[in-house]
Amino acid sequence: MYTAKTSRRSAGSTAHSGSPYHARRSGGTSTRSASATPFKRTATSSSFARSNSAGAPSSPSHARYLATTSRGAGARPYRGGGRPSGGRSNGGGGRSHNQKTERIDFSRFINKAKTLDNAPIFTPANNFTDFKLDPRVKKSIVSHGYTNPTPIQDQVIPLILEGKDVVGMANTGTGKTAAFLIPFINKILLNNREKVIIIAPTRELAIQIDDELKKFTRDIRLFSVCCVGGAPIYKQISQLRMQYNFIIGTPGRIKDLMTRRMIRTHEIKNVVLDEADRMLDMGFSEDIRLILSDMPKDRQTLCFSATIPTEIERLIKEFLKTPTYISVKTQDVAVNIEQDVVYIPRGQNKLEVLYGLLAKADLTKVLIFGRTKHGVEKLSDCLVARGFKSESIHGDKTQSKRQSSLKMFKDNHANILVATDVAARGLDISDISHVINFDLPATNDDYIHRIGRTGRGDKRGKAITFVER
Ligand code: ADP
Ligand code: MG
Repeated sequence: MYTAKTSRRSAGSTAHSGSPYHARRSGGTSTRSASATPFKRTATSSSFARSNSAGAPSSPSHARYLATTSRGAGARPYRGGGRPSGGRSNGGGGRSHNQKTERIDFSRFINKAKTLDNAPIFTPANNFTDFKLDPRVKKSIVSHGYTNPTPIQDQVIPLILEGKDVVGMANTGTGKTAAFLIPFINKILLNNREKVIIIAPTRELAIQIDDELKKFTRDIRLFSVCCVGGAPIYKQISQLRMQYNFIIGTPGRIKDLMTRRMIRTHEIKNVVLDEADRMLDMGFSEDIRLILSDMPKDRQTLCFSATIPTEIERLIKEFLKTPTYISVKTQDVAVNIEQDVVYIPRGQNKLEVLYGLLAKADLTKVLIFGRTKHGVEKLSDCLVARGFKSESIHGDKTQSKRQSSLKMFKDNHANILVATDVAARGLDISDISHVINFDLPATNDDYIHRIGRTGRGDKRGKAITFVER
């Protein structure tokens, strides 16, 4: 762990040049150099700097931020401002995000010892060629660039191909999407009348699954309709009137379309619940029950979840037929994510600490988590004013703005994305070098999901958590 120290500054001070900020390690296990990282930076010295904007340390939004967030000189501690991220105003994606908070043991956020070099090499029992897949599917797997199945794919693909109901548990970033897409694409190729519905907690995740499906089926005649809120419903309705094989969407919009009788549930005999635990957390339990009760009894149902709390277990008992449970979860967090904590002493502004961190050369693509929609927006504004290329994503933005921010980040036009938990769940963005928890996550599960946005697949990533004390 390391402690961020700065000189005391007066509340609202916007001067940053020459600040004697040092990141100093207190532990003896550090692999990072103990030498201080100078806090001083110019906007153009960092890979994040916007070419058209100078540092602008005294910009109005920065001053506004400091005015509301500084912990110095009698100012109230920063609490992120605004409502928590889970609300549903303008498409937060959830009904009423359960605002559960846990006592968090920060020592769990530090993990320096594990190295990939010692990690066991996974040898799949099957090769993609061993699976009983249509040659067209095999061809598309190869053209997608996959050579070997991941552990969860290795185990669940044969079961799904046999027609079994499956409950899959695996760490984030381990290829669960392809684990259900590949066998279901195959099923449709064998019988073009088959239809699949995939239910995911957030719009972004549903869109991402649809994108992944489109990549897999480039040379296959397959149609999907993405049914998410925040997008025009009439377009979805007109697509649903045409031929389709997949519906991928969020529970609220799917239920809405079912109520309007636009989704003919009796025709859909394959269901995937992706990130089931998150959907229940977000208050979608009733919607999911309603959707599933309306589906034919002789269906195949898959449930993917990071954890299986009692409520999920109940849902599984109610809606899955003697499912096979597959868990390839070895530990909560992948070994390839290095975790660290930055302790921020009372009186110090964490925004200044963040600026200092972002100036480091190895922070090439950073996802920053804030607690509230308002706080996230404000933080991103400050970073932009400071000369960083930052975008934000949260439930108060329109869906098209959320998508365009995400695209900017994915395409590397912005290398900082500031997000709330709800907006970032399940997102697969390649090459995120760092996840920074600017505000603490509410629960350990949230923490695991946040940091799982980096170190995807066999890549390495770093997670840094700010802890004020
Ligand atoms: P999860 O749903 O488990 O969080 P994803 O399905 O989003 O994970 O996959 C994470 C990343 O791994 C994606 O970029 C995906 O393309 C990649 N991936 C999945 N399966 C394989 C595979 N067999 N070989 C190589 N990369 C894969
Ligand atoms: Mg996933």
